[in-house]
Amino acid sequence: MSDVHPKNRCRVCGGSSGGGSGADSGGLCACHEAAWREVCGHYPTWEARMGAGWGEYLAEVARNPLTGAWVREVAEFMIRNRIARQDRRA
Ligand SMILES: [Zn+2]
Repeated sequence: MSDVHPKNRCRVCGGSSGGGSGADSGGLCACHEAAWREVCGHYPTWEARMGAGWGEYLAEVARNPLTGAWVREVAEFMIRNRIARQDRRA
């Protein structure tokens, strides 16, 4: 049983999602799941302040040196895969 089912792999880093507590996370490890929520959760604030779109927000997050590594990886993943804004999980 050394094989990790693809469904249980983190979509961002490919690591084990560790059993996947979050049913709605769609295959993310704990770190990236938390970062994913952070990226989605912070957007409304940013949008209200900057008045810019989701794509610009992700680009900003990805190149902000103050952004945590996990969050930046999630933003880069979203850009690469053209992930649409998802705020239903909030
Ligand atoms: Zn991960």
